[in-house]
Amino acid sequence: MKISELLKQVNRSISFEFFPPKTKEGEESLFKTIKELEHIKPTFVSVTYGAGGSTRDRTRNIVKKIHETTSLTVMAHLTCIGHTKQQLLEILQDYKNIGIQNILALRGDIPVNMEDFKIPEDGCKFANELVELIRENFKDWFSIGVAAYPEGHPESPNLERDVYYFKKKVDAGADFAITQMFFDNKYFYDYLELCEKAGINIPIIPGIMPITNFKQIRKFALMCGATIPEELVRKLEKVQDNNEEVEKIGIEFAVKQCEDLLKNGVKGLHFYTLNKSKATIEIYNQIKHLI
Ligand code: FAD
Repeated sequence: MKISELLKQVNRSISFEFFPPKTKEGEESLFKTIKELEHIKPTFVSVTYGAGGSTRDRTRNIVKKIHETTSLTVMAHLTCIGHTKQQLLEILQDYKNIGIQNILALRGDIPVNMEDFKIPEDGCKFANELVELIRENFKDWFSIGVAAYPEGHPESPNLERDVYYFKKKVDAGADFAITQMFFDNKYFYDYLELCEKAGINIPIIPGIMPITNFKQIRKFALMCGATIPEELVRKLEKVQDNNEEVEKIGIEFAVKQCEDLLKNGVKGLHFYTLNKSKATIEIYNQIKHLI
């Protein structure tokens, strides 16, 4: 089913993001996680796409397996910069053939260690062009999600410019957006105001990253420009070598963050699970009375 329709039906949406594992063991472990999370009856789940198309087949196969062997609605992430339009259309046609109706249309990160990397001549330079390509060729078959950045995209000179380009994705036909992780809800609320002023009226679902490993989260946050509040950093630093303690603080923090978001009327919560269920289930159990 299309996520655009589901978002109209549910009071709040709950969704989970996975990445395609590299090994058979990783895949078995992912499907164990999926089974555990299926009990929550999420509105949808999504599977990421490796930079430049590096997980093309793996993403497709995991999406297909979730679609065929579980009760879940699944969305495939697709990044455009590593492909020609022809390749993108082939990937999309294949998704249509297997019955997938949800795509997260992304540009993807420019590879840092490939100086000779070039976006193909006949390709899409930005996500709005991918959204256009999908709408032109597949009309309303797909519900299309796009990425949004409450603290601004790292390449963007300022938030206003970033919102201007976000609006282009909406005008091209995006149905909803999922945000980059953030840890201070103020950024999200200010961002919603900016988007409203810019005439963006699609659901913007906050992306929630439960912290389970301090060093890893510091690296991710640095890469995507997400600010970790000082107070949280101090707490985590004290216990950084004890993963159990880090996870406990991470869960406590995420519960408070989600409670505040839900009390402020968000349309849904999208959890970056990193293919693990424990933290997400614990957070969900503590906030489900507000959903
Ligand atoms: P765009 O919306 O195209 O924006 C990219 C940059 O260009 C921004 O700075 C924007 O302001 C600017 N810009 C946009 N349009 C124009 C234009 N027409 N002219 C000039 N400048 C423009 N990455 C992956 O590789 N795989 C994934 O599965 C994946 N999933 C993600 C899921 C979510 C929810 C989020 C938030 C991000 C995800 N990413 C993923 C990361 C994403 O690919 C990167 O952040 C990438 O650098 C930007 O992608 P985008 O679709 O936001 O690009």
